[in-house]
Amino acid sequence: MKPLPFRRTKIIATLGPATESEEMLAKLIRAGVDVMRLNMAHAKHDWTRMIIQRIRAVSKDVGREVAIMMDIKGPEIRTGDLEVPIELQAGEIFDFTVKPEVDRDRGEEIRSVDVNYRNLVNDIRIGDTVLVDSGLIRLEVLEKNDAHIRCRVLTPGQLTSRRHINLPGVHVNLPSFTEKDRGDTLVGIAEGIDFVALSFVREATDIVNLRGFLKEHGSRARIVAKIEDQSAINNLDEIIRATDVLMIARGDLGIEIPLEELPVVQRRAVRICLSIGRPVIVATHMLESMIGQPMPTRAEITDVANAVFESADCVMLSGETTVGRYPLDCVRVLDTISRRIENELANEYGEPSVFLAERMKILRSAVLMADELPNSSILCFTRRGITAAGLAAHRPVRAPILGITDSVETLRHLRMVRSVEPYLLAAFGDPEKTITRAVELLLGQGRIKSGDKLVIISDIMTASNQRVDSIQLRTVA
Ligand code: PGA
Ligand code: MN
Repeated sequence: MKPLPFRRTKIIATLGPATESEEMLAKLIRAGVDVMRLNMAHAKHDWTRMIIQRIRAVSKDVGREVAIMMDIKGPEIRTGDLEVPIELQAGEIFDFTVKPEVDRDRGEEIRSVDVNYRNLVNDIRIGDTVLVDSGLIRLEVLEKNDAHIRCRVLTPGQLTSRRHINLPGVHVNLPSFTEKDRGDTLVGIAEGIDFVALSFVREATDIVNLRGFLKEHGSRARIVAKIEDQSAINNLDEIIRATDVLMIARGDLGIEIPLEELPVVQRRAVRICLSIGRPVIVATHMLESMIGQPMPTRAEITDVANAVFESADCVMLSGETTVGRYPLDCVRVLDTISRRIENELANEYGEPSVFLAERMKILRSAVLMADELPNSSILCFTRRGITAAGLAAHRPVRAPILGITDSVETLRHLRMVRSVEPYLLAAFGDPEKTITRAVELLLGQGRIKSGDKLVIISDIMTASNQRVDSIQLRTVA
Protein backbone atom coordinates (compact mmCIF):
# COMPACT_ATOMS: atom_id res chain seq x y z
CA MET A 1 0.00 0.00 0.00
CA LYS A 2 1.16 3.57 -0.51
CA PRO A 3 2.27 5.46 2.57
CA LEU A 4 -0.43 7.19 4.62
CA PRO A 5 -0.23 10.94 5.26
CA PHE A 6 2.42 11.48 7.91
CA ARG A 7 1.11 11.37 11.48
CA ARG A 8 3.28 11.69 14.60
CA THR A 9 0.76 10.37 17.14
CA LYS A 10 0.26 6.60 17.10
CA ILE A 11 -3.10 4.84 17.22
CA ILE A 12 -3.80 1.70 19.27
CA ALA A 13 -7.00 -0.27 18.63
CA THR A 14 -8.33 -3.04 20.87
CA LEU A 15 -9.69 -6.03 18.96
CA GLY A 16 -13.00 -7.74 19.59
CA PRO A 17 -16.11 -9.02 17.80
CA ALA A 18 -16.42 -5.79 15.80
CA THR A 19 -12.91 -5.95 14.38
CA GLU A 20 -11.61 -9.53 14.45
CA SER A 21 -12.43 -10.47 10.84
CA GLU A 22 -9.68 -10.45 8.23
CA GLU A 23 -11.57 -7.84 6.30
CA MET A 24 -11.83 -5.46 9.28
CA LEU A 25 -8.21 -6.01 10.26
CA ALA A 26 -7.14 -5.05 6.75
CA LYS A 27 -9.29 -1.93 6.89
CA LEU A 28 -7.90 -0.92 10.29
CA ILE A 29 -4.34 -1.36 9.10
CA ARG A 30 -5.03 0.64 5.93
CA ALA A 31 -6.71 3.37 8.02
CA GLY A 32 -3.48 3.75 10.00
CA VAL A 33 -3.77 1.71 13.20
CA ASP A 34 -0.24 1.21 14.51
CA VAL A 35 -0.77 -1.25 17.36
CA MET A 36 -3.42 -3.96 17.87
CA ARG A 37 -4.35 -4.59 21.50
CA LEU A 38 -5.66 -7.88 22.87
CA ASN A 39 -7.51 -7.50 26.16
CA MET A 40 -6.91 -10.76 28.04
CA ALA A 41 -9.71 -10.03 30.51
CA HIS A 42 -12.00 -11.23 27.73
CA ALA A 43 -9.84 -13.40 25.44
CA LYS A 44 -9.58 -17.21 25.38
CA HIS A 45 -6.30 -18.85 24.41
CA ASP A 46 -7.58 -20.35 21.15
CA TRP A 47 -8.85 -16.99 20.03
CA THR A 48 -5.61 -15.33 21.09
CA ARG A 49 -3.48 -17.66 18.97
CA MET A 50 -5.84 -17.34 16.02
CA ILE A 51 -6.00 -13.54 16.11
CA ILE A 52 -2.24 -13.05 16.45
CA GLN A 53 -1.61 -15.26 13.42
CA ARG A 54 -4.35 -13.46 11.55
CA ILE A 55 -2.92 -10.01 12.30
CA ARG A 56 0.50 -11.13 11.07
CA ALA A 57 -0.97 -12.60 7.88
CA VAL A 58 -3.16 -9.59 7.11
CA SER A 59 -0.28 -7.18 7.84
CA LYS A 60 1.78 -9.04 5.30
CA ASP A 61 -1.01 -8.96 2.71
CA VAL A 62 -1.63 -5.28 3.16
CA GLY A 63 2.07 -4.48 3.23
CA ARG A 64 2.14 -2.61 6.54
CA GLU A 65 3.54 -4.32 9.63
CA VAL A 66 1.70 -3.46 12.85
CA ALA A 67 2.61 -4.25 16.47
CA ILE A 68 0.65 -6.50 18.83
CA MET A 69 0.16 -5.65 22.49
CA MET A 70 -1.18 -8.27 24.87
CA ASP A 71 -2.90 -6.61 27.82
CA ILE A 72 -2.94 -8.97 30.81
CA LYS A 73 -5.43 -8.32 33.53
CA GLY A 74 -3.29 -8.35 36.67
CA PRO A 75 -4.71 -8.23 40.20
CA GLU A 76 -8.37 -7.66 39.49
CA ILE A 77 -11.28 -8.37 41.83
CA ARG A 78 -14.61 -9.47 40.40
CA THR A 79 -18.00 -10.46 41.71
CA GLY A 80 -19.22 -13.99 41.01
CA ASP A 81 -21.98 -15.36 38.81
CA LEU A 82 -25.59 -14.43 39.46
CA GLU A 83 -28.53 -16.38 38.10
CA VAL A 84 -30.60 -13.22 37.92
CA PRO A 85 -29.36 -9.62 38.26
CA ILE A 86 -29.84 -7.97 41.67
CA GLU A 87 -31.49 -4.55 41.84
CA LEU A 88 -29.59 -2.89 44.66
CA GLN A 89 -31.68 -0.31 46.53
CA ALA A 90 -30.33 2.84 48.14
CA GLY A 91 -29.74 2.19 51.86
CA GLU A 92 -29.97 -1.59 51.46
CA ILE A 93 -27.60 -3.74 53.51
CA PHE A 94 -25.64 -6.06 51.20
CA ASP A 95 -22.86 -8.65 51.69
CA PHE A 96 -19.83 -9.52 49.59
CA THR A 97 -19.04 -13.07 50.64
CA VAL A 98 -15.77 -14.93 50.42
CA LYS A 99 -17.11 -18.07 52.15
CA PRO A 100 -20.71 -18.47 50.95
CA GLU A 101 -20.99 -21.92 52.58
CA VAL A 102 -20.27 -20.44 56.03
CA ASP A 103 -22.90 -17.71 55.59
CA ARG A 104 -25.40 -20.29 54.39
CA ASP A 105 -24.84 -22.44 57.51
CA ARG A 106 -25.24 -19.38 59.72
CA GLY A 107 -28.55 -18.68 57.99
CA GLU A 108 -27.66 -15.12 56.88
CA GLU A 109 -30.70 -13.57 55.26
CA ILE A 110 -29.08 -10.53 53.73
CA ARG A 111 -28.70 -10.49 49.93
CA SER A 112 -25.17 -11.17 48.78
CA VAL A 113 -22.75 -11.95 45.98
CA ASP A 114 -19.49 -13.96 45.96
CA VAL A 115 -16.13 -12.30 45.38
CA ASN A 116 -13.20 -14.04 43.69
CA TYR A 117 -10.68 -12.87 46.31
CA ARG A 118 -10.60 -14.54 49.72
CA ASN A 119 -8.35 -12.03 51.40
CA LEU A 120 -10.72 -9.17 50.72
CA VAL A 121 -11.95 -9.28 54.32
CA ASN A 122 -8.39 -8.72 55.56
CA ASP A 123 -7.40 -5.94 53.15
CA ILE A 124 -10.51 -3.81 53.62
CA ARG A 125 -11.37 -1.57 56.58
CA ILE A 126 -14.67 -0.41 58.06
CA GLY A 127 -15.70 2.82 56.34
CA ASP A 128 -13.95 2.00 53.02
CA THR A 129 -15.80 2.48 49.76
CA VAL A 130 -16.57 -0.41 47.42
CA LEU A 131 -17.26 0.49 43.79
CA VAL A 132 -18.82 -2.03 41.44
CA ASP A 133 -19.07 -2.00 37.66
CA SER A 134 -16.87 0.98 36.77
CA GLY A 135 -18.06 2.88 39.81
CA LEU A 136 -21.73 2.83 38.83
CA ILE A 137 -22.70 1.20 42.15
CA ARG A 138 -21.21 2.59 45.36
CA LEU A 139 -21.26 0.96 48.81
CA GLU A 140 -19.80 1.71 52.22
CA VAL A 141 -18.31 -1.00 54.43
CA LEU A 142 -20.18 -1.24 57.77
CA GLU A 143 -18.68 -4.38 59.29
CA LYS A 144 -16.78 -7.53 58.35
CA ASN A 145 -16.02 -11.03 59.57
CA ASP A 146 -14.03 -13.93 58.12
CA ALA A 147 -16.85 -14.85 55.70
CA HIS A 148 -18.05 -11.52 54.32
CA ILE A 149 -17.95 -7.75 54.32
CA ARG A 150 -21.28 -6.12 55.08
CA CYS A 151 -22.05 -2.87 53.27
CA ARG A 152 -24.67 -0.21 52.89
CA VAL A 153 -25.65 0.75 49.32
CA LEU A 154 -24.98 4.46 48.72
CA THR A 155 -25.55 4.64 44.97
CA PRO A 156 -28.07 2.01 43.83
CA GLY A 157 -28.00 0.08 40.55
CA GLN A 158 -28.35 -3.26 38.88
CA LEU A 159 -25.70 -5.83 39.75
CA THR A 160 -25.04 -8.41 37.04
CA SER A 161 -22.56 -11.31 36.84
CA ARG A 162 -18.77 -10.94 37.10
CA ARG A 163 -18.52 -7.19 37.63
CA HIS A 164 -15.21 -5.48 38.29
CA ILE A 165 -14.72 -4.16 41.85
CA ASN A 166 -12.63 -1.06 42.62
CA LEU A 167 -11.46 -0.32 46.16
CA PRO A 168 -10.07 3.23 46.13
CA GLY A 169 -7.11 3.63 48.47
CA VAL A 170 -7.09 0.00 49.61
CA HIS A 171 -3.85 -1.91 49.20
CA VAL A 172 -4.90 -5.23 47.73
CA ASN A 173 -2.53 -8.07 48.58
CA LEU A 174 -3.05 -9.95 45.32
CA PRO A 175 0.13 -10.82 43.39
CA SER A 176 0.84 -8.34 40.59
CA PHE A 177 1.36 -11.18 38.10
CA THR A 178 -1.33 -13.81 38.66
CA GLU A 179 -1.55 -17.44 37.52
CA LYS A 180 -3.87 -16.37 34.73
CA ASP A 181 -1.43 -13.66 33.62
CA ARG A 182 1.32 -16.26 33.52
CA GLY A 183 -0.72 -18.58 31.31
CA ASP A 184 -1.77 -15.73 29.02
CA THR A 185 1.75 -14.36 28.68
CA LEU A 186 3.16 -17.78 27.77
CA VAL A 187 0.68 -17.97 24.89
CA GLY A 188 1.70 -14.47 23.82
CA ILE A 189 5.38 -15.32 23.98
CA ALA A 190 4.86 -18.47 21.90
CA GLU A 191 3.05 -16.42 19.26
CA GLY A 192 5.62 -13.62 19.27
CA ILE A 193 3.80 -10.60 20.71
CA ASP A 194 5.63 -7.27 20.72
CA PHE A 195 4.33 -5.72 23.95
CA VAL A 196 2.95 -6.99 27.24
CA ALA A 197 0.80 -4.48 29.11
CA LEU A 198 0.68 -5.14 32.84
CA SER A 199 -2.52 -3.95 34.54
CA PHE A 200 -2.62 -2.30 37.99
CA VAL A 201 1.14 -1.84 38.27
CA ARG A 202 1.79 -0.71 41.86
CA GLU A 203 5.56 -0.40 42.07
CA ALA A 204 8.72 -0.80 40.00
CA THR A 205 9.34 -4.35 41.24
CA ASP A 206 6.14 -5.46 39.45
CA ILE A 207 7.88 -4.53 36.21
CA VAL A 208 11.23 -5.98 37.22
CA ASN A 209 9.53 -9.31 37.96
CA LEU A 210 7.71 -9.38 34.62
CA ARG A 211 10.95 -8.53 32.86
CA GLY A 212 12.59 -11.49 34.57
CA PHE A 213 9.75 -13.77 33.46
CA LEU A 214 9.98 -12.60 29.85
CA LYS A 215 13.72 -13.08 29.78
CA GLU A 216 13.47 -16.51 31.34
CA HIS A 217 11.14 -17.54 28.50
CA GLY A 218 13.25 -16.01 25.78
CA SER A 219 10.87 -13.16 24.94
CA ARG A 220 12.03 -9.76 23.78
CA ALA A 221 8.57 -8.24 24.23
CA ARG A 222 8.63 -4.73 25.67
CA ILE A 223 6.70 -3.87 28.83
CA VAL A 224 3.85 -1.37 29.06
CA ALA A 225 3.06 -0.36 32.66
CA LYS A 226 -0.59 0.55 33.14
CA ILE A 227 -1.12 3.05 35.94
CA GLU A 228 -4.62 2.53 37.31
CA ASP A 229 -4.67 3.33 41.02
CA GLN A 230 -3.27 5.42 43.87
CA SER A 231 -0.25 3.21 44.58
CA ALA A 232 0.91 3.68 40.99
CA ILE A 233 0.62 7.44 41.43
CA ASN A 234 2.62 7.31 44.66
CA ASN A 235 5.39 5.41 42.85
CA LEU A 236 5.07 7.14 39.50
CA ASP A 237 8.71 8.13 39.03
CA GLU A 238 10.16 4.70 39.75
CA ILE A 239 7.52 3.02 37.59
CA ILE A 240 8.27 5.26 34.62
CA ARG A 241 11.97 4.63 35.02
CA ALA A 242 11.51 0.84 35.22
CA THR A 243 9.09 0.40 32.33
CA ASP A 244 9.58 0.57 28.57
CA VAL A 245 6.26 2.35 27.94
CA LEU A 246 3.66 3.91 30.24
CA MET A 247 -0.11 3.69 29.78
CA ILE A 248 -2.37 6.15 31.55
CA ALA A 249 -5.29 3.76 32.03
CA ARG A 250 -7.95 6.36 32.68
CA GLY A 251 -10.77 3.83 32.93
CA ASP A 252 -9.76 2.48 36.31
CA LEU A 253 -7.65 5.45 37.32
CA GLY A 254 -10.68 7.73 37.02
CA ILE A 255 -12.51 5.58 39.56
CA GLU A 256 -9.64 4.93 41.95
CA ILE A 257 -8.63 8.56 42.47
CA PRO A 258 -10.77 11.70 42.93
CA LEU A 259 -12.04 12.75 39.51
CA GLU A 260 -10.38 16.15 39.56
CA GLU A 261 -7.01 14.42 40.01
CA LEU A 262 -7.30 12.53 36.70
CA PRO A 263 -6.27 15.34 34.34
CA VAL A 264 -3.55 16.41 36.78
CA VAL A 265 -2.11 12.91 36.84
CA GLN A 266 -2.36 12.62 33.05
CA ARG A 267 -0.45 15.83 32.51
CA ARG A 268 2.17 15.04 35.13
CA ALA A 269 2.72 11.49 33.90
CA VAL A 270 3.06 12.64 30.27
CA ARG A 271 5.58 15.29 31.32
CA ILE A 272 7.72 12.89 33.33
CA CYS A 273 7.69 10.42 30.42
CA LEU A 274 8.73 13.16 27.99
CA SER A 275 11.50 14.31 30.31
CA ILE A 276 13.20 10.90 30.20
CA GLY A 277 12.11 9.88 26.72
CA ARG A 278 9.68 7.14 27.75
CA PRO A 279 6.82 6.53 25.27
CA VAL A 280 3.40 7.21 26.83
CA ILE A 281 -0.12 6.10 25.92
CA VAL A 282 -3.29 8.02 26.81
CA ALA A 283 -6.04 5.40 27.04
CA THR A 284 -9.75 4.85 27.54
CA HIS A 285 -12.97 6.71 26.76
CA MET A 286 -11.31 8.86 24.10
CA LEU A 287 -14.28 8.37 21.76
CA GLU A 288 -16.63 6.50 24.09
CA SER A 289 -19.82 7.92 22.57
CA MET A 290 -18.79 6.52 19.18
CA ILE A 291 -19.48 3.01 20.47
CA GLY A 292 -23.05 3.76 19.43
CA GLN A 293 -22.86 6.93 17.34
CA PRO A 294 -21.01 7.90 14.17
CA MET A 295 -19.86 11.27 15.54
CA PRO A 296 -17.76 12.08 18.63
CA THR A 297 -18.93 14.58 21.23
CA ARG A 298 -17.25 17.96 21.21
CA ALA A 299 -15.69 17.11 24.56
CA GLU A 300 -14.18 13.95 23.10
CA ILE A 301 -12.73 15.85 20.16
CA THR A 302 -11.08 18.19 22.61
CA ASP A 303 -9.86 15.38 24.85
CA VAL A 304 -8.09 13.73 21.92
CA ALA A 305 -6.67 17.09 20.87
CA ASN A 306 -5.45 17.67 24.42
CA ALA A 307 -3.51 14.38 24.41
CA VAL A 308 -1.85 15.42 21.15
CA PHE A 309 -1.15 18.94 22.45
CA GLU A 310 0.41 17.32 25.52
CA SER A 311 2.58 15.41 23.07
CA ALA A 312 1.62 11.87 24.06
CA ASP A 313 3.05 9.11 21.84
CA CYS A 314 -0.15 7.11 21.47
CA VAL A 315 -3.89 7.40 21.82
CA MET A 316 -5.95 4.27 22.37
CA LEU A 317 -9.38 2.85 21.52
CA SER A 318 -11.05 0.16 23.66
CA GLY A 319 -14.80 -0.47 23.52
CA GLU A 320 -14.92 1.79 20.46
CA THR A 321 -13.21 -0.91 18.37
CA THR A 322 -14.05 -4.11 20.29
CA VAL A 323 -17.84 -3.88 20.26
CA GLY A 324 -18.54 -0.45 18.77
CA ARG A 325 -20.60 0.13 15.66
CA TYR A 326 -18.11 2.52 14.04
CA PRO A 327 -14.59 1.18 14.61
CA LEU A 328 -13.19 2.52 11.34
CA ASP A 329 -14.70 5.95 11.82
CA CYS A 330 -13.06 6.07 15.26
CA VAL A 331 -9.65 5.47 13.73
CA ARG A 332 -10.31 8.15 11.11
CA VAL A 333 -11.37 10.64 13.78
CA LEU A 334 -8.19 10.02 15.80
CA ASP A 335 -6.12 10.29 12.63
CA THR A 336 -7.68 13.59 11.50
CA ILE A 337 -7.55 15.29 14.89
CA SER A 338 -3.97 14.16 15.53
CA ARG A 339 -2.67 15.48 12.22
CA ARG A 340 -4.49 18.79 12.61
CA ILE A 341 -3.15 19.39 16.11
CA GLU A 342 0.38 18.33 15.16
CA ASN A 343 0.26 20.89 12.41
CA GLU A 344 -0.89 23.49 14.91
CA LEU A 345 1.99 22.64 17.25
CA ALA A 346 4.42 23.26 14.40
CA ASN A 347 3.00 26.75 13.97
CA GLU A 348 2.91 27.97 17.58
CA TYR A 349 2.34 31.69 17.53
CA GLY A 350 5.01 34.20 18.38
CA GLU A 351 4.14 36.99 20.80
CA PRO A 352 1.03 38.84 19.64
CA SER A 353 1.83 42.43 18.69
CA VAL A 354 -0.43 43.78 21.42
CA PHE A 355 2.24 42.62 23.86
CA LEU A 356 4.72 44.99 22.30
CA ALA A 357 3.09 48.14 23.62
CA GLU A 358 5.04 49.96 26.31
CA ARG A 359 2.15 49.70 28.74
CA MET A 360 2.11 45.91 28.32
CA LYS A 361 5.77 45.76 29.33
CA ILE A 362 4.85 47.43 32.61
CA LEU A 363 2.00 44.99 33.20
CA ARG A 364 4.26 42.07 32.36
CA SER A 365 6.78 43.16 34.95
CA ALA A 366 4.02 43.45 37.54
CA VAL A 367 2.82 39.90 36.81
CA LEU A 368 6.37 38.51 36.97
CA MET A 369 7.02 40.22 40.28
CA ALA A 370 3.72 39.17 41.85
CA ASP A 371 4.07 35.55 40.76
CA GLU A 372 7.48 35.37 42.42
CA LEU A 373 6.38 36.86 45.74
CA PRO A 374 4.59 34.51 48.16
CA ASN A 375 1.16 35.70 49.42
CA SER A 376 0.92 38.46 46.90
CA SER A 377 -1.98 39.88 44.91
CA ILE A 378 -2.01 42.22 41.97
CA LEU A 379 -4.15 45.26 42.64
CA CYS A 380 -5.15 47.35 39.67
CA PHE A 381 -7.49 50.24 38.98
CA THR A 382 -9.34 49.80 35.77
CA ARG A 383 -12.13 51.96 34.38
CA ARG A 384 -12.75 50.14 31.12
CA GLY A 385 -11.12 46.85 32.10
CA ILE A 386 -8.14 47.30 29.79
CA THR A 387 -5.48 47.25 32.51
CA ALA A 388 -7.05 44.20 34.17
CA ALA A 389 -7.30 42.34 30.86
CA GLY A 390 -3.72 43.34 29.99
CA LEU A 391 -2.50 41.87 33.27
CA ALA A 392 -4.57 38.72 32.69
CA ALA A 393 -3.06 38.37 29.21
CA HIS A 394 0.27 37.73 30.88
CA ARG A 395 -1.30 34.73 32.62
CA PRO A 396 -0.23 34.96 36.24
CA VAL A 397 -0.38 31.48 37.82
CA ARG A 398 -0.09 32.28 41.53
CA ALA A 399 -1.17 35.84 42.21
CA PRO A 400 -4.83 36.78 41.74
CA ILE A 401 -5.65 40.03 39.95
CA LEU A 402 -7.92 42.19 42.10
CA GLY A 403 -9.46 44.56 39.60
CA ILE A 404 -10.98 47.66 41.16
CA THR A 405 -13.38 49.52 38.90
CA ASP A 406 -15.88 52.34 39.26
CA SER A 407 -18.12 50.90 36.53
CA VAL A 408 -20.56 48.07 37.12
CA GLU A 409 -20.50 47.36 33.40
CA THR A 410 -16.73 46.85 33.46
CA LEU A 411 -17.13 44.66 36.55
CA ARG A 412 -19.50 42.42 34.60
CA HIS A 413 -17.20 42.29 31.59
CA LEU A 414 -14.35 41.22 33.84
CA ARG A 415 -16.43 38.23 34.99
CA MET A 416 -15.20 36.56 31.82
CA VAL A 417 -11.52 37.34 32.15
CA ARG A 418 -9.20 34.72 33.58
CA SER A 419 -7.55 35.44 36.98
CA VAL A 420 -9.43 38.70 37.54
CA GLU A 421 -11.63 39.15 40.59
CA PRO A 422 -13.45 42.45 40.01
CA TYR A 423 -14.57 44.84 42.79
CA LEU A 424 -16.69 47.95 42.54
CA LEU A 425 -15.45 51.15 44.18
CA ALA A 426 -17.34 54.34 43.48
CA ALA A 427 -15.69 57.57 42.32
CA PHE A 428 -11.97 57.23 41.71
CA GLY A 429 -10.21 60.39 42.78
CA ASP A 430 -6.77 61.14 44.09
CA PRO A 431 -4.68 57.95 43.43
CA GLU A 432 -3.34 57.59 46.99
CA LYS A 433 -6.79 57.97 48.58
CA THR A 434 -8.24 55.50 46.08
CA ILE A 435 -5.60 52.92 47.00
CA THR A 436 -6.40 53.35 50.69
CA ARG A 437 -10.12 52.89 50.07
CA ALA A 438 -9.51 49.80 47.92
CA VAL A 439 -7.30 48.21 50.57
CA GLU A 440 -9.98 48.83 53.19
CA LEU A 441 -12.60 47.26 50.94
CA LEU A 442 -10.47 44.14 50.34
CA LEU A 443 -9.58 43.82 54.04
CA GLY A 444 -13.28 44.12 54.90
CA GLN A 445 -14.10 41.31 52.45
CA GLY A 446 -11.36 39.10 53.89
CA ARG A 447 -9.69 38.94 50.46
CA ILE A 448 -6.38 40.20 51.81
CA LYS A 449 -4.92 40.25 55.30
CA SER A 450 -2.28 42.13 57.20
CA GLY A 451 1.21 41.11 56.04
CA ASP A 452 0.15 40.23 52.45
CA LYS A 453 2.06 41.75 49.57
CA LEU A 454 0.29 43.95 47.04
CA VAL A 455 1.71 44.68 43.61
CA ILE A 456 -0.20 47.81 42.71
CA ILE A 457 -0.65 49.21 39.22
CA SER A 458 -1.72 52.79 39.63
CA ASP A 459 -1.18 56.35 38.53
CA ILE A 460 0.87 58.58 40.76
CA MET A 461 1.09 62.35 40.70
CA THR A 462 4.47 63.96 40.16
CA ALA A 463 5.54 67.16 41.91
CA SER A 464 4.59 69.06 38.77
CA ASN A 465 1.13 67.46 38.96
CA GLN A 466 1.57 65.01 36.08
CA ARG A 467 0.05 61.49 36.12
CA VAL A 468 2.57 58.69 35.49
CA ASP A 469 2.24 54.89 35.50
CA SER A 470 3.70 53.10 38.48
CA ILE A 471 4.22 49.62 39.85
CA GLN A 472 4.39 49.72 43.62
CA LEU A 473 5.12 46.95 46.07
CA ARG A 474 3.42 47.43 49.40
CA THR A 475 2.77 45.31 52.47
CA VAL A 476 -0.76 45.36 53.89
CA ALA A 477 -0.64 47.08 57.29
P1 PGA B 1 -8.64 -1.99 30.96
O1 PGA B 1 -7.48 -0.95 31.18
O2 PGA B 1 -9.36 -1.61 29.70
O3 PGA B 1 -7.92 -3.27 30.87
O4 PGA B 1 -9.48 -1.88 32.21
C1 PGA B 1 -7.55 0.37 30.72
C2 PGA B 1 -8.12 1.32 31.76
O5 PGA B 1 -8.42 0.96 32.89
O6 PGA B 1 -8.25 2.50 31.38
MN1 MN C 1 -8.11 -1.03 33.68
